[in-house]
Amino acid sequence: MIYFDYNATRPLRQKAKDALLQTFELCGNSSAIHKDGRATRKVIEIAREKIATALNLEERRIVFTSSATEADNTILKAFKGPVIISSIEHSAVHRVRDDAFICSTLKSGVIDLDHLEELLKAQSQKTLVSMIAAHNETGVIQPLAQIRKLTQKYNALIHTDAVQALGRANFDWNSFDFISFSGHKIGALMGVGIMVINPDIPLLPLICGGGQERSFRSGTENVTGIASFGAVIEEALSEDWSESQKLRDQLEERILEISPQSIIVGKESDRLPNTSQFTMPNVKSETQVIHFDLHNISVSAGSACSSGKVKLSRSLKAMGYTDDVSGTVLRVSLAPNPKQEDLDTFIKTWKALYNG
Ligand code: PLP
Repeated sequence: MIYFDYNATRPLRQKAKDALLQTFELCGNSSAIHKDGRATRKVIEIAREKIATALNLEERRIVFTSSATEADNTILKAFKGPVIISSIEHSAVHRVRDDAFICSTLKSGVIDLDHLEELLKAQSQKTLVSMIAAHNETGVIQPLAQIRKLTQKYNALIHTDAVQALGRANFDWNSFDFISFSGHKIGALMGVGIMVINPDIPLLPLICGGGQERSFRSGTENVTGIASFGAVIEEALSEDWSESQKLRDQLEERILEISPQSIIVGKESDRLPNTSQFTMPNVKSETQVIHFDLHNISVSAGSACSSGKVKLSRSLKAMGYTDDVSGTVLRVSLAPNPKQEDLDTFIKTWKALYNG
């Protein structure tokens, strides 16, 4: 198999496998007072410390959740004032608040800063702005420093869904009030996420119960997932993606040679080094994904989180693409060190379908 779907999920790193095997030996509940309980608690706190150090954040800002989806939901639901989100947010943000003000996005995939300022200007109450850091489909990285300046100017709070950005785009994580991260996108286990909070801002929990995670998220912690997150964070942040970017650029050049009318979405924007989304004119995304699967190549059309079926991309529509265009896209998201021969196989397979 050739796996070109790293934005959907990343294979488990060896460090994560080692860490999770160790946690299988634990038997205490992390909230128990006895030695067994304390041993489990220690594993969680070591992971928290490693993550906080790697991200340059205070430990008390890190709250473990079951997923980034849960972190996104908690933050947006807990905030009672007006919320502004971009038109290209992941469903985990997009579907949470019916009353959210939607900031438009330019064809480049970058959010419209003028529109954001207009929306902020019109608010009379403390507002929360939630903007995706790097897009899961297009890979476009948002100008969060500029967005931060605007939220400061209008005394608003800022949340970023940084699931795809972690380890692949550089941000000062301390400049946000709230952040969502996901373990499985960086090679930790699936089913663990992080909600970065601002302890000075009250936050109503989404899940109430035994008061774990300082009551920000009750429920016995997923110690195995948390340990795996802690085990991989440093490696994830120091990963070199230059080879991925080189092959991604080569891939796009070769696609355009074969099919000059293909559109490469967000090509002129700052993008994740491993991500490319491009069209095969007149061939449905679903047909393409199935064709590649039959040739043992895993790719996707867009957001694999809502997977099972290929739907037209809400984000591409928001960027101004017609259904005809967005119905023919394919997303390739490469490993840090993809093999040239795998890329050659991909191109050959793409060309075969293109030539019918
Ligand atoms: N946000 C973005 C940008 C994503 O790409 C994803 C998953 O693809 C999520 C949120 C959801 O993350 P999780 O799988 O941890 O719920």
